[in-house]
Amino acid sequence: MQTTNDIRRSFLEYFGDNGHEVVPSSPLIPHNDPTLMFVNAGMVPFKNVFTGAETSAYATATSSQKCVRAGGKHNDLDNVGYTARHHTFFEMLGNFSFGDYFKEQAIYHAWKLITGEWGIDPGRLTATVYHTDDEAFDLWRKISGLPEDRIIRIATNDNFWSMGDTGPCGPCSEIFYDHGDHIAGGPPGSPDEDGDRFVEIWNLVFMQYDQQAGGDRRDLPSPSIDTGMGLERIAAVMQGTHDNYEIDLFKTLIAESGSLTGTATTGDNQASHRVIADHLRAASFLVADGVLPANEGRGYVLRRIMRRAMRHAHLLGAKDPLMHRMVGSLTGEMGNAFPELIRAKPLIEETLLREETSFRRTLANGLKLLDAEIADMSEGDTLSGETAFKLYDTYGFPYDLTEDALRARALGVDRAGFDAAMEQQKAAARAAWKGSGDQASETVWFDIAEKHGSTEFTGYTAEEGEGVV
Ligand code: ATP
Ligand code: MG
Ligand code: MG
Ligand code: MG
Repeated sequence: MQTTNDIRRSFLEYFGDNGHEVVPSSPLIPHNDPTLMFVNAGMVPFKNVFTGAETSAYATATSSQKCVRAGGKHNDLDNVGYTARHHTFFEMLGNFSFGDYFKEQAIYHAWKLITGEWGIDPGRLTATVYHTDDEAFDLWRKISGLPEDRIIRIATNDNFWSMGDTGPCGPCSEIFYDHGDHIAGGPPGSPDEDGDRFVEIWNLVFMQYDQQAGGDRRDLPSPSIDTGMGLERIAAVMQGTHDNYEIDLFKTLIAESGSLTGTATTGDNQASHRVIADHLRAASFLVADGVLPANEGRGYVLRRIMRRAMRHAHLLGAKDPLMHRMVGSLTGEMGNAFPELIRAKPLIEETLLREETSFRRTLANGLKLLDAEIADMSEGDTLSGETAFKLYDTYGFPYDLTEDALRARALGVDRAGFDAAMEQQKAAARAAWKGSGDQASETVWFDIAEKHGSTEFTGYTAEEGEGVV
């Protein structure tokens, strides 16, 4: 069996041998890009090279980039634990051409690597092209020999990529693997394409236009290539499973949470173990790259990820903080490829332990309140925004944690009500300050408080909060 580590190495070697510069992953915090919360694709570190703002010392490159999709435009947080193919943290394998080769070579390399080097059965593969991209259609026919009905024309933005409202953009081709008819889901472009049967493994982006502000689209003088393949998804294919959580790496992490909690990892517990394993990775890599739990911004995304996993640890009956005890397993699996994990191990463990210790002080009471509230609700009902807000404000439950907690019972949350309660609290806090005589400094304080979200629970009510329920 090829391990996940073998597959990463083999990908980089293939493109390295074909003249690409092998570039190490950039950190998860994008530098020079305040608009982006986390690096969420392999091309992000090369953005300025694609726009022409920077020149690169090499014309082609390859990398396995750390990505987080748990906030902003790409947010897969809600999928984790419930689809077989989404993670909050994952690695994106990619090859890039900065004005060097274009469509033909990109398709050629993708096809050669997966069907030639890796021996994946072409009979299981489907490619998509943007509906007007005849050039890509013809190249797929010629290079892969796929029958016409397995080169699917797609008219949606799934097959047209753009960096933003202006700048480089172009059609893309995606490669899907059919895991077989024992899994629910339809081919790309069909109404049930979101199932886990046909899994998108690789996206090839053909940057050929430069979008102008007025709506004009010009040809780029030297078209470029950006590709992205999910390492965990291709590992699943190569390890003979449709399920990312069944690959070697996740099996190890899940076995560890099973043994530390003394629980079965299947049946009702399955989603909990998956969430814990996934979120452990995301949290550890974020801490290693310098993010710490906080009440706003990136730190709050990290806190949400951590607390969400911690609720699942509690559900499994963990009597003591769990997450920090799993870091060794993770560094064992990924520390060679990402030495920063090993360097940061003590910090990761301490951060997880502190957060879990502090959250556990209010978690059980919050869940009691939640249970009482939903006792007589039935499927499809909605928890009041006020209760969701109380859970947030008094018990430190991030909104999406409450949502996740209700999911198993098919209940929703009144988001608008939650936002209104939040607004009301801010307004009340403002009003309470009126008349103290120092208007100017108060305004500044509230601006800061609002910007940094200081109303979120920070731990001090742990003792005071006793008996509130
Ligand atoms: P999907 O449609 O399955 O959500 P996507 O179209 O959002 O995937 P892209 O933005 O095209 O994904 O990213 C390139 C590749 O990265 C995908 O083909 C897939 O293999 C992988 N990938 C994307 N999102 C995730 C995720 N949340 N977890 C694991 N791998 C992912
Ligand atoms: Mg997606
Ligand atoms: Mg997609
Ligand atoms: Mg895609």
